[in-house]
Amino acid sequence: MQTIAHSGLIAPSSRSHESFPFWRPTDLDEALTAIANAPLAPVIFAGGTDLCAQFNEGLTPAAMVSLDRVVELKTIRIEADRLVIGSMVTHAQGSTDELVRRHLPGFAKAWGMAANARVRFWATVGGNLMARRVRYELSLMLAALGATLRFARSDGTRFEITTEELWTADLDQRSLLLDIVVPCGEGARFDYERSLRPTLTIALASGSDAGAMAAIATEWLRPLVLRVRPELGPVRAAEDAFEAMPPSFSDPATSHWYLREVGQTLLRRMLEARDGR
Ligand SMILES: Cc1cc2nc3c(=O)[nH]c(=O)nc-3n(C[C@H](O)[C@H](O)[C@H](O)COP(=O)(O)OP(=O)(O)OC[C@H]3O[C@@H](n4cnc5c(N)ncnc54)[C@H](O)[C@@H]3O)c2cc1C
Repeated sequence: MQTIAHSGLIAPSSRSHESFPFWRPTDLDEALTAIANAPLAPVIFAGGTDLCAQFNEGLTPAAMVSLDRVVELKTIRIEADRLVIGSMVTHAQGSTDELVRRHLPGFAKAWGMAANARVRFWATVGGNLMARRVRYELSLMLAALGATLRFARSDGTRFEITTEELWTADLDQRSLLLDIVVPCGEGARFDYERSLRPTLTIALASGSDAGAMAAIATEWLRPLVLRVRPELGPVRAAEDAFEAMPPSFSDPATSHWYLREVGQTLLRRMLEARDGR
């Protein structure tokens, strides 16, 4: 028998949830042990801002492991021309961090635009990625930057994927995102254009190992990474990049033609601004 809360007529609230085991480990080893030992796959709790929405969508956890006390996941450091950003770094911390601002000021600025002030102090980069909602922005930014996501499984194995693979990778509930590795060598630069969001958002990264890359996304479509050849000049480079946009890249609100036209215009302007024109 369903309760009214489960019928879909009203959103289930915390009062309608069965109780479940809840762990708050204080370091990474303890967190991995808690995830491994939970009899049923546990829900990982980071800042909880997306989980609030998931509860309203019907999430009923069998168990939960909170990462809020795991300080190893809250750090940002530099390792050989790469920023290593812990999965528990919040939007507020990351966007104001001295290392992020020094090595990728454009990324710090763009990251600081995500969500409102109240949410930014709780919402983490790991939660933003692992919620796997295309309208969230960090996967778009990090895909353009050529970032790698590093995970640990509760059996002790480690693995990594590209940001683009986030959407197709087989990530079970016992896969813990540890950190994000972002190339930020000499000359690395990041620009972001969200004035048309959610119709179209563009991230442009250049000067890193991967050359210049643009990532585009809409409210409905996963980020698509396009190679950019700045040496062609802003007009031709923007046209050339969007030639690789597949015909299937359109959504219920916006046609392929419009996304290509407006995308080229925005990218051209970003390239011109980058060159100081
Ligand atoms: C009012 C509001 C406005 C917003 N505006 C924006 C915006 O403008 N731009 C934008 O990009 N986003 C926006 N967001 C989304 C927000 O950025 C995300 O909700 C937030 O980043 C999720 O992080 P969290 O720490 O709260 O994750 P949680 O809610 O704790 O977790 C989210 C999901 O990720 C999983 N998870 C979390 N951490 C890990 C980990 N380390 N390993 C494995 N799985 C993990 C959880 O199990 C859960 O499934 C907004 C949200 C709100 C509520």
